[in-house]
Amino acid sequence: MSAPVLVLASSNQGKLRELRELLRDQVPGLDVDTQVIDAATAGAGDVVEDAVTFQGNALKKAREIAASTGLIALADDSGISVDVLGGAPGIFSARWAGRHGDDEANIDLLLAQLGDIATEHRSAAFICAAAIASPDGQAHVELGTLPGILRTERSGDGGFGYDPIFQPSGSDRSLAEYSAAEKNAISHRARAFAALLPQIVERVTAQLSAG
Ligand code: IMP
Repeated sequence: MSAPVLVLASSNQGKLRELRELLRDQVPGLDVDTQVIDAATAGAGDVVEDAVTFQGNALKKAREIAASTGLIALADDSGISVDVLGGAPGIFSARWAGRHGDDEANIDLLLAQLGDIATEHRSAAFICAAAIASPDGQAHVELGTLPGILRTERSGDGGFGYDPIFQPSGSDRSLAEYSAAEKNAISHRARAFAALLPQIVERVTAQLSAG
């Protein structure tokens, strides 16, 4: 088995699977199934996400995990940004209603806050920052966005987080009514990592040829 080269600063297996598919056949000599690993497998600890922007948090996670593992690290940070709320929930998306990861309460609060707001003013976007860092601290970050509007009620049971109330621009379905493959083809995360791909290929290629 070849030694790991790239670590994802997350232990979310869904994100790891997506990353491996994005990188498959993109870098000559890279075996994505054994050389791209998650943070727990690399023995990396948790990173405190105390930056105040998506980019700042993604860069912090990538830099810390690269430094502690000695591998090239990738990290992402994401959330939803609602225009009429001045960009909120933003970096507070996961804990908008006060408790980290309570998706139902977060949706209830957002729907209540926008209760009187007409459709034409319900524009929002999912935003993702994807960062890469090398063990020496050199880092780069890219943003991906998925614009849409907030519906007035939930629909669909796929996805996670705010998907049941988010309708991508040009669609008549909520993101929770998309298949996983359909969502992965357009998501803010896929767009951010696609924008970062040239940096990933360059750094991983250099690492593999350095031996
Ligand atoms: P994280 O960057 O994976 O920690 O996501 C932060 C929070 O943003 C999540 O807990 C969700 O509330 C929200 N979020 C991020 N991406 C999505 C998505 O694709 N669909 C729905 N909610 C999302």
